Amino acid sequence: MIRIRGLNKAFKGSPVLSDVHLDIREGEVVSIIGPSGAGKSTLLRCINLLEVPTSGEITVDGQPVQYKTNAKGKLSLLSQFKVSWLRTSVSMVFQQFHLWPNKTVLQNIIEGPVLVKKIPREEAVAKAEILLEKVGMLGKKLEYPANLSGGQQQRVAIARALAMEPKVILFDEPTSALDPELVHEVLEIMVKLAQEGMTMVVVTHEMNFARNVSDRVLFIENGRIVKEGTPHEMFNHSNARMGSFLKSIH
Ligand code: ADP
Ligand code: MG
Repeated sequence: MIRIRGLNKAFKGSPVLSDVHLDIREGEVVSIIGPSGAGKSTLLRCINLLEVPTSGEITVDGQPVQYKTNAKGKLSLLSQFKVSWLRTSVSMVFQQFHLWPNKTVLQNIIEGPVLVKKIPREEAVAKAEILLEKVGMLGKKLEYPANLSGGQQQRVAIARALAMEPKVILFDEPTSALDPELVHEVLEIMVKLAQEGMTMVVVTHEMNFARNVSDRVLFIENGRIVKEGTPHEMFNHSNARMGSFLKSIH
């Protein structure tokens, strides 16, 4: 579903991602762990074209994410058509939810399907209500985000991501901004999605999720994937650096 070859990203000449190679199969759940500043968010943002890589290749479901390099060695941007294709294929869930504050829960969910996918409004509303039911938020469909708890906002954000019927969902520390007692309500939904076969890439500090739900775990440090494997391989035989990282977050 996602194929990354030789991905590099630098900001003003400082490398943030170096020679990242990664393949993610359809239906796979991959957790990405690693210290702050390692480049985890930048990796997700490159997949979704929120950042343009400095070099390298990314394909999503066989479609190249960017054009080839131009004469100056820079990657040129996609056509608008390809950007929309990508944005409907790859949904993202952010640490800070990023719901539109001036729209109700329901409006937040139908916005993408109606404006980007051109789905008739009534059909979008009917689908949104099914998704809200799934995340336990149907009763709040007319509320504004400010009137919801963080856990409720994140559940709405997940419903919004699903409303685009994406091929992949990227989660960037989806529970890190939540009060501890609200973390489980978001994780439960993510577990359900994983069981339903959704392809998911999850940057997380929730080691129980990484260990029990993911098929594969990547440890990223200084912009490189320094260790990867099944949860069993990663947590039972963690190397010295990863061991000290794991201690640091407990
Ligand atoms: P992580 O998500 O693992 O904490 P990030 O991908 O957010 O790490 O950041 C990796 C590095 O890239 C950090 O040093 C950060 O300061 C830098 N960085 C991220 N985004 C930008 C940007 N837009 N401009 C300049 N530097 C950035
Ligand atoms: Mg980050």
